Amino acid sequence: MSSPVVTGAYLIEAREVAKSFGQTPALRGASVAVCQGEILAIMGPSGSGKSTLLHCLAGIFTPDRGEVWFDGQRLDTLGEAERTRLRRTAFGFVFQFGQLVPELTAADNVALPLLLNRVGRRTAYRTAGTWLDRLGVADKGRHRTGELSGGEAQRVAVARALAMAPTVIFADEPTGSLDSLTGEKVMDLLTALARETGTTVVLVTHDARVAAYADRLVIVRDGMVSVDLGPAGEQVSAAQAAQ
Ligand code: ADP
Repeated sequence: MSSPVVTGAYLIEAREVAKSFGQTPALRGASVAVCQGEILAIMGPSGSGKSTLLHCLAGIFTPDRGEVWFDGQRLDTLGEAERTRLRRTAFGFVFQFGQLVPELTAADNVALPLLLNRVGRRTAYRTAGTWLDRLGVADKGRHRTGELSGGEAQRVAVARALAMAPTVIFADEPTGSLDSLTGEKVMDLLTALARETGTTVVLVTHDARVAAYADRLVIVRDGMVSVDLGPAGEQVSAAQAAQ
């Protein structure tokens, strides 16, 4: 293998990351780099390693080999406490299911991470209200999220991720449980607000219509990033093609 094709100029990088679950290799040397403010989509067949790559980039999984860099520092070698702190303060997450607490109201769900980060109660709830409003679900603030529709719940999840003013949002099939029209609305809001706030987004999806919202697309196959398309990816693609 050649040296890593990514440079220190990126906000997030995976360099030749390998990760197995028991005997199952999920990643076999995946490299990808994401610029500050970029919206990157990761596509590929089911089981190709997309989610594992996202979890490695977000410091949730530790790779067996390779390196993960965030904002100029090695993420994969940080201690668990420091990685947890980073995840809480710099990263927001939107997953397909289950990230909201169904017994709590929408406002509670959005305010909760802020309260955990020691934001005062009034400010936390005021911020939650602002983001619920921006996601078009201000009227659901007092509703338990378990009672909301799938589309409403995902808007609350996006509000919760953005309310923390994260540097990066990691989204794993964020519209996977929604019909296409509802999914498009959620993607419209997520990408418009991310662009407005300069938030970097790393998005796993199997849906080309969802990927179309991104600035750049990479394809994962058999645990490797096989294709890197789009303006910011040209350097990586050229270097990979030359190998
Ligand atoms: P994708 O997101 O592209 O569908 P994944 O990253 O979820 O792919 O999975 C890649 C491979 O790793 C698959 O073979 C999957 O079965 C396996 N895998 C992923 N997560 C786990 C896990 N927690 N335990 C065991 N195997 C896993």
